[in-house]
Amino acid sequence: MVKKLEQMYEGKAKKVFRTENPDLYLVDYKDDATAFNGEKRGTIADKGYYNNQISALLFAELEKAGIPTHMVELTGDREMLVKGLEIIQLEVVVRNIAAGSLAKRLGFEEGRKLPFAVVEFYYKDDSLGDPLVNDSHIAVLGAAQPEELVVLRELGLKINRVLQDIMARAGIELVDFKLEFGKHKGEIILGDEISPDTCRFWDMETGAKLDKDRFRRDLGKVEEAYIEVYQRLQKVLK
Ligand code: UDP
Repeated sequence: MVKKLEQMYEGKAKKVFRTENPDLYLVDYKDDATAFNGEKRGTIADKGYYNNQISALLFAELEKAGIPTHMVELTGDREMLVKGLEIIQLEVVVRNIAAGSLAKRLGFEEGRKLPFAVVEFYYKDDSLGDPLVNDSHIAVLGAAQPEELVVLRELGLKINRVLQDIMARAGIELVDFKLEFGKHKGEIILGDEISPDTCRFWDMETGAKLDKDRFRRDLGKVEEAYIEVYQRLQKVLK
């Protein structure tokens, strides 16, 4: 049993606790949901449980595909033991289909298939509303080195291929998703979570949204969508 020590950090969706090992932390997934940079708030019943379990399944698959992640092991229903990371202050978004802010920015209708995967970087700063940034912006901000951006793009695209394949087996279209990375002993590894909070998942047959857009857009059946994703993944990843 890993001993949970004091809380180190509380974010919108997770709490992080120290352990007796200075390199390892316990992440506790909450049911709290926020959207639009914290303007919309609510809770989604048992979201913490489903996001923790879904992330664990996907991190394990990514590890099998050779992508380093921060997950050490699942330690509870809503709790995961992870490696401590020096977080890179960028959100890496990968998109296969136009939706959300890209649809708006480029004037594409939601659902338009992109000819190739698009990778974007957003600077993690709530007070600025996490702006989209290009390589020069990232350089002047000092958020990452040019050679690190090369690695982030490569990892984003590789993770996209692995996740697209898994989700397709579960009858789900991977529309887009957000990743966060950090450095652990000099190596860039995947952190944060991969869940319906951070991805757009559309049912391949019906087009139904199985992700946080149900909360953002008040579409109802929010919990049901998270449960559906978890159950389908459990089935295909057995
Ligand atoms: N996303 C996220 N956290 C953020 C912003 C975006 O997890 O702070 C995810 C979002 O769920 C979607 C993808 O990144 O899967 C692209 O989001 P987009 O830029 O379209 O922004 P949104 O429309 O969600 O505001």
